[in-house]
Amino acid sequence: MFNDEMLSLGCKRSAIRELFEFGKQRAAEVGADKVYDFSLGNPSVPAPAEVKEAMLELINTLDDKTLHGYTSAQGDLSVRTAVADSLNKKYGVSFGADDIYMTCGAAAGLAITLRALCIEGDEVVLLAPYFPEYGVFVKAAGATPVTVKFDGDFQIDFASLEKALSPKTKAIIVNSPNNPCGVIYSEKTLKKLGEMLTERAKLYGHPLFIIADEPYRELVYDGENVPFIPTVYSDTVVCYSFSKSLSLPGERIGYIAVNPACNGARELYFAILGAGRALGYVCAPSLFQRVAAKCLNARPDLKAYDENRTLLYTSLCKIGFECVHPKGAFYLFVKAPNGDAAAFSEAAKKHGLLIVSGNDFAAPEWVRIAYCVSKDTIIKSLPSFEKLYSEFV
Ligand code: PLP
Repeated sequence: MFNDEMLSLGCKRSAIRELFEFGKQRAAEVGADKVYDFSLGNPSVPAPAEVKEAMLELINTLDDKTLHGYTSAQGDLSVRTAVADSLNKKYGVSFGADDIYMTCGAAAGLAITLRALCIEGDEVVLLAPYFPEYGVFVKAAGATPVTVKFDGDFQIDFASLEKALSPKTKAIIVNSPNNPCGVIYSEKTLKKLGEMLTERAKLYGHPLFIIADEPYRELVYDGENVPFIPTVYSDTVVCYSFSKSLSLPGERIGYIAVNPACNGARELYFAILGAGRALGYVCAPSLFQRVAAKCLNARPDLKAYDENRTLLYTSLCKIGFECVHPKGAFYLFVKAPNGDAAAFSEAAKKHGLLIVSGNDFAAPEWVRIAYCVSKDTIIKSLPSFEKLYSEFV
């Protein structure tokens, strides 16, 4: 009677959400202090002070209709102008307001971009390990996800990518800094990717797009550089989010930036407007469009994440775990000592440790630990990690 695919999506929560809900239930049963919840990428660092200042200023100066009314479908013009100007200044590019489309976060940006780009039968390449919702968005756009495995350094395995590309490939999603493993793709890697895609585009007679999913662009450590992909490969659409950079995940705000130099840029922008319309997005939240525009240079206090990163990485390595050293985002990717992430994540629950199995990230030997938690949580959880490890070696 109903749409079976939607029914099954609704009935089966993602592994991350499943664990998060379990954690809430467990905390009610045994006490929150006995549950170490590393499941969700919910920022633990408060929004920068500029956010509250911008909110107050907007609330005190704008009339209600401007503040709470509909904006243009693609977002308020002054907001889009501010976003484009900021990108141009930072990266030496030339985006205009009409290359920017304000969205309800990166999730909406991805769903809209995929819907705008894909037709039935298209393939979209996902680079493992990847954010599990990609598969949902790709299928909802009528396309088929094609997974490419990672190499030994969690960079792109080009030999596998070469085999995965086909005349049906419409796009590849690139997420750097990466959720779940925290790697950043270097300019050299991205150039090599660009060359491969350019070569295939010539061979197939149509462009292959990069969808750059960038919620973690600002969350980098040790002064690492995150190349802006449109400067490396022109057929790029950027899906950005303020969820993590301004610690505003519940406010649902981000944008799509269509590289004006990409193939069919004008038509693609209008297809994005059409996809947003077909998916019922109407417009992104008015107040937070304006807040974001005022806070484009604001940054979260990365010190706390950085301290957590070092503490967790060094402590778990000392216990004996094999970990990927994260360069960005706020996740630690850890190898399950038994090579079976699902069983390991299940065993961890018994020690009050909520860590996500990598199965849904296309990395079934690895688990993800979100370290956007208090430092105290990490310190208190370490004896449990030790006990867990000793069960498996
Ligand atoms: N892409 C990645 C890689 C993510 O980790 C997330 C959220 O955790 C999203 C997209 C969606 O973020 P948003 O809150 O901006 O929709």
